[in-house]
Amino acid sequence: MIPVSRVRLDPSTEARVLAVLRSGHLVQGPVVEELEQHFATMHHAAHAVAVSNGTIALELALRASGIGRGDEVVTSPFTFVATLNAILAVGATARFVDIADDFLINPESVADAISNLDPWHRSRVRAIMPVHLFGQTADMSALREIAKASDLALIEDAAQAHLASGPHGIAGSGTGRGAACFSLYATKNLTAGEGGMITTDDDAVAAQLRLLRNQGMRVRYEYETIGTNARLSDLHAAVAMAQIGNLEQSTQQRAANANRLTDALREAPGILLPQVHPGHRHVFHQYTIVLSAENGPAERHRFISELAARGVGSAIYYPRLAFDYSCYSNRDDVVVHDVSNARNIATRVVSLPVNSTLDEDELDSIISSVIEVATLLFGGTSPAQLAGNASANGA
Ligand SMILES: *Cc1c(COP(=O)(O)O)cnc(C)c1O
Repeated sequence: MIPVSRVRLDPSTEARVLAVLRSGHLVQGPVVEELEQHFATMHHAAHAVAVSNGTIALELALRASGIGRGDEVVTSPFTFVATLNAILAVGATARFVDIADDFLINPESVADAISNLDPWHRSRVRAIMPVHLFGQTADMSALREIAKASDLALIEDAAQAHLASGPHGIAGSGTGRGAACFSLYATKNLTAGEGGMITTDDDAVAAQLRLLRNQGMRVRYEYETIGTNARLSDLHAAVAMAQIGNLEQSTQQRAANANRLTDALREAPGILLPQVHPGHRHVFHQYTIVLSAENGPAERHRFISELAARGVGSAIYYPRLAFDYSCYSNRDDVVVHDVSNARNIATRVVSLPVNSTLDEDELDSIISSVIEVATLLFGGTSPAQLAGNASANGA
């Protein structure tokens, strides 16, 4: 089965990890510092602060920006649950607004939600948390304007967006007094096994993050604030350091794979292909297609099992909206606006393999299988006719 994600570490990883083991210094130290410097430079950020995972990165970024109990954070419902858990962990309220067809938070929905609030609630909104889902950045230019107009912090969930960029710059740059949070989890575009990274241009936020991740102390046993242990270990940092020099290349490989899929699947019936906005660099953490509206959950299930029968793995990111579970229902700190587009899209998405380890045969197999299954389930058109159409179009 061709897997949606495949972790293949550079051979140099072993030597780097071994060097840390032999040094006897396993915890946060020189390798973490090296990774932070590399990450900051790569993302044109004044600071990069390493932490133990992407979820705690979001949580600490909120806390370092002064967001806590009674505050509200406007965010996307179409995301991994970590976005929501981080907001709740600091005691804030999550306010969910809709996404556009590109899976990303709709700036108009953000603006509408804020302007329709009563003055009391409006004064509690302190931050916007856009999610650069699947590797494409949200419309940061529009969101920055909204944030500026209402004096809000922008805390970006960039867990899936290493090296993604848009007209506003690369994800993690130009954060102003906000921050961007990355994950270094095993399946992310850059991995430490487990890990996270926060970039910010705000010296005070960076200093606060360094305190928070280490029990609130700069000098041993002198606690300046109530912190936690969110340190990254040098062992984990060594794993990420072994790939970071290769990240640009593996990102280009993902984009090349995505282009190949998009060129070949254009004629497949009943599916919508991922949109890349002009001026954006999509880093394809996932290649996510949307089945046509007339196809229900049963068709999606069949689509996935027919692909599996042909040896092609696929996955649903995400089957339900982040808050759509009983543990989040009937809570005052989870507020849901009109999210009808997100609800609709969540029933129709399927992610196909796009990872940088795919070889030519695997890409061919993904393409022919998707065309075959889409034609079988959704097409009145035969694959032969499709091939004819493709060549007639000069594709
Ligand atoms: C992976 C991910 C996170 C959390 O990162 P972890 O390192 O797994 O804690 C947060 N948000 C999104 C969108 C993610 O994909």
